[in-house]
Amino acid sequence: MGLLSLGTPLPWSEAKNHADHVRKHGIIQFLNIWNRLKTRRKDHLYWGDEIEYVVVSKDDAARKVRLSLKAHDALVELQKIESEAQAKGEPFDSSWKPEYAVYMLEATPGAPYGSTIKDLTTVEPNMRRRRALAQSYLRPNETVLTLTSYPHLGTNDFLDPPADPAPAAGASRSLFIPDIAINPHARFPTLTKNIRTRRGSKVCINMPIYVDTNTPRPFVEPTPKCVAALGSEQLADLAKESTSHTTTPPKGSASGDSAALPGVIPDALPDHIYMDCMCFGMGCCCLQVTFQACSVEEARRLYDHLAVVSPIMLALSAAAPIFRGYLADVDCRWDVISASVDDRTKEERGEEPLNSSRFRIPKSRYDSINLYLSPGPNYSGGCTKPHRTSASGTDSHDDFHSPVDTSVPIRANFYKDKYNDLNIPFDKEIHKTLQDGGVDELLARHYAHLFIRDPLVIFEELLEQDDQKSSDHFENIQSTNWQTMRFKPPPPGSPIGWRVEFRSMEIQLTDFENAAFSVFVVLLTRAILSYDLNFYIPLSQVDENMKKAHSRAAVTEQKFWFRKNIFGGDRPSSVAGLGEATTSENDPDEAQLLTINEIINGNDFFPGLVPLIESYLSSVNLDYATHSQLSSYLTLISRKASGELMTAAGYIRKFVHEHPGYKHDSVVSDQIIWDLVQKLETMTENGGRGVPGLTA
Ligand code: ADP
Ligand code: MG
Ligand code: MG
Repeated sequence: MGLLSLGTPLPWSEAKNHADHVRKHGIIQFLNIWNRLKTRRKDHLYWGDEIEYVVVSKDDAARKVRLSLKAHDALVELQKIESEAQAKGEPFDSSWKPEYAVYMLEATPGAPYGSTIKDLTTVEPNMRRRRALAQSYLRPNETVLTLTSYPHLGTNDFLDPPADPAPAAGASRSLFIPDIAINPHARFPTLTKNIRTRRGSKVCINMPIYVDTNTPRPFVEPTPKCVAALGSEQLADLAKESTSHTTTPPKGSASGDSAALPGVIPDALPDHIYMDCMCFGMGCCCLQVTFQACSVEEARRLYDHLAVVSPIMLALSAAAPIFRGYLADVDCRWDVISASVDDRTKEERGEEPLNSSRFRIPKSRYDSINLYLSPGPNYSGGCTKPHRTSASGTDSHDDFHSPVDTSVPIRANFYKDKYNDLNIPFDKEIHKTLQDGGVDELLARHYAHLFIRDPLVIFEELLEQDDQKSSDHFENIQSTNWQTMRFKPPPPGSPIGWRVEFRSMEIQLTDFENAAFSVFVVLLTRAILSYDLNFYIPLSQVDENMKKAHSRAAVTEQKFWFRKNIFGGDRPSSVAGLGEATTSENDPDEAQLLTINEIINGNDFFPGLVPLIESYLSSVNLDYATHSQLSSYLTLISRKASGELMTAAGYIRKFVHEHPGYKHDSVVSDQIIWDLVQKLETMTENGGRGVPGLTA
């Protein structure tokens, strides 16, 4: 979460009247950046990670864990020491940001990492220092954890201090999570309320229950006790607010049986875990990695190829098997967040004929990308070696670009229109404005697509801006399109270049794993650029992969589309020993179904991403310590892909199944969570290496 603007937020009834103003000026602001900086080049390959945490509070007497609302006090303190250090000009190696929920923290490195390979060895120690620093600002009974979905979020008595949900009023009107769990900064409750108001009902999230031997069938949740306190008028109003479907009422919709949740809430489905507010999604933690590219063309290239990898990394990083205290039949958070911020109207969702809405919109604002960008025209005349002014290393053997064969053109364009096979809505007027302003067709379509969305939070005081100096209106829409990849233009007036953000991964339980996943993606970007890799497949296949990635045990159970021949140009001689594709003569762009093991580790016909990275690293002169540290990360990824080591989701599932208190009824009790948290505390103490089944 970046900088937060301050001011008076407008309710949806007023904000919607300013939507066109924000869109119009957002596009002007983008064009101003574009025309100033499209030829910018030679930026360093800086990068940075973002780690999100939850803070839990442990009640020793009751042996119960709750989410701590006091985490916010720690955040205030952490931000204070960070800004004091900055004011004194002292180095401070972490940066602390608020997140959606009061019980969350977010930390990035204090400054982006440098572009040398040696810098990669600083990531894990930095992550460990961040965790230790956060922990040092907590109360003695509190612990900071990297858990993607806190298993008891939205269960009975899950907050410290305790608070009850109040579904009759407030920003989210949730049956399970009181608004006090939402960050009090005006942006967050306003976002919550305006999404609900724009949509015309509460958000609706249903994850399939994991059916175990003693799970009742059908699985029907009891009605939470806050519902019993409602009068009949309030109940009718709540039922209306919880009706997302118009035409075909879902199976089990409001039968009138007030003891069963689907009896009173039409959106709640039998055999599903029902969730009803933004916090269930935005209150989850993820791991994101942002890269600066040396030019806009290179950023676009990385955006496209990494978009193909994003579902694979979602499956491999899967860490969310429990929601609201029940084992789910999914392993990831993604669909939960996607539904938790789905502000589309019934007309936009195709529930009703288009009348007052402008577009049919197939996906939520939080979803996989809808359009490849291609490298685009040669705005900057290609990219040469970056400047060598990185503070973190000047040894040319260490430079990420050093193994590039200079005879291979760096700017490789393998894009074909057939890969953009999703029929996506876009704003034709904005598309034209962008093209008239000098933006090429694909990038113009990209923003004309993102800008079909309305701005959700508008601060009255920030309506009028200097479009030369500000990108506030642009960011308003851009940063509430939460897709698997984000293409980030340079902020005005800053030294930052063109960046892309890789956004699909779930947070891992330990710093070792978080470092391994981050470093793996960084090294993959280097292999993509050095070997001119071509991952393009039709986006409809990437979307199929995204759906598969979400399912339980996807790493070992699913096959994913991946391109057969991933070398855009000639196969580099250094990868001679790796699997080689035989593509059919009539389709050199053919895709095939592979397991994650095959994608990551290779087979006779596919080189594998880890062997490619290893081959890339073997052409760089690395000292022993650096090499062995990077190898430990690649080995971890490789063993998780083969199924030899479990995903975080697999590990948590196994822990529940083997717990003596688990009754094989899909219910995860207080006692199980208590023991799980003890286990997580122990494994993170030493950074996370050597945890049997998870990391060793
Ligand atoms: P978000 O858009 O997700 O709020 P932030 O601006 O907070 O992102 O930063 C995300 C990550 O980008 C951080 O890890 C930060 O270190 C990194 N970052 C910041 N500046 C650069 C840069 N010039 N190049 C690459 N990464 C950067
Ligand atoms: Mg964040
Ligand atoms: Mg981010």
